[in-house]
Amino acid sequence: MKIPLSQPDITEAEIEAVTAVLRTSRLSLGPKLEEFEHAMASYVGMPHAVAVNSGTSGLHLCVRALGIGDEDEVIVPSFTFIAAANAIRYERARPVFVDIEPHTLNLDPEKIEAAITPRTRAIMAVHSFGVPLPIDAILAIAKRHDLFVIEDACEAVGAEYKGCQAGSFGHAAVFAFYPNKQVTTGEGGMIVTGDVALACRMRALRNQGRYDSDDWFQHQEIGYNYRISEINCALGIEQLKRISEILSRREEVAKAYHRELEDIRELILPPIHVAGSRISWFVYVVRLAGNFTAHHRDKLMSYLQSEGIGCARYFAPIHLQPSYAEWRETHLPVTESESARTLALPFFNRLSQAQISEVGKALRSGLRMLD
Ligand SMILES: *Cc1c(COP(=O)(O)O)cnc(C)c1O
Repeated sequence: MKIPLSQPDITEAEIEAVTAVLRTSRLSLGPKLEEFEHAMASYVGMPHAVAVNSGTSGLHLCVRALGIGDEDEVIVPSFTFIAAANAIRYERARPVFVDIEPHTLNLDPEKIEAAITPRTRAIMAVHSFGVPLPIDAILAIAKRHDLFVIEDACEAVGAEYKGCQAGSFGHAAVFAFYPNKQVTTGEGGMIVTGDVALACRMRALRNQGRYDSDDWFQHQEIGYNYRISEINCALGIEQLKRISEILSRREEVAKAYHRELEDIRELILPPIHVAGSRISWFVYVVRLAGNFTAHHRDKLMSYLQSEGIGCARYFAPIHLQPSYAEWRETHLPVTESESARTLALPFFNRLSQAQISEVGKALRSGLRMLD
């Protein structure tokens, strides 16, 4: 692709930090792990952070450590990355998919209560595309029904809702550091929580069920190898030092797209401001207007790709995936109609104005072709 969909932003400082770790003899469970956890806890303003090897592992540990299991139900959007729902199914609990609202594409708080049953244990509150959920509405529902809130903040590091950081509201929250995220460690994730007992259990679960007081061959419960290496942590520490620069750069790119595309009547652009919130830009996803279909979107996507422009549909609904056949009959009109018309455009820190103009030009030609 001439202009890729996504591209990590790695500077010499990151390369040096990673190389320095390779010159030591501690490649796992060393000082970088602790430093990365402290840096993240202090950035989010939470007392405990537990680093793991992916966002998915982090979500799984949240479900597991909160004791959610067989036949318990968890509210989750279908319009998101599949890891959010899979983490529930790993513990044989049941995802209950709730529809989104069409402006921010986040869970619609007004539709949550109708989905709650006596078996509901938690709400998986996903901050989609880095736009924070209306957390106060979610917390009020959770309180009324005595539910846990797990924040899936994997797309939202640095997002703010009413002055508070995404990840600081729930019983536990998870960030992810895959290379297309705002901050990357190659692969990696981070759980934050205010609950010391929960953090302690998560630390044991990520390390084969070993507690701090145990020796290496003593295991109190069945755990996992969800550890993250010192190499990944060193990369994360350096990325986190640059986070304010990264987030403002991404915001500039989003604004430049907005200027470039706002006169195209066939497109619905993502909201550039959401009242009371700071968006942490993860991806730039436009939608074709309501009179278009998935067929048009796919045709436009193929055209852009043939022009060397990376793009993708974001997301395909989870309840329509082959691995979710049991959920196929769930009816989520907004999820189904909006996801059919989404198109993620190239989006990364170093995307230039010239590249943005090129994407705009190709989009206009592609749209003319659809008529
Ligand atoms: C990226 C992401 C995850 C976790 O992804 P990993 O690849 O496992 O790090 C989870 N949920 C959402 C919504 C995501 O976007």
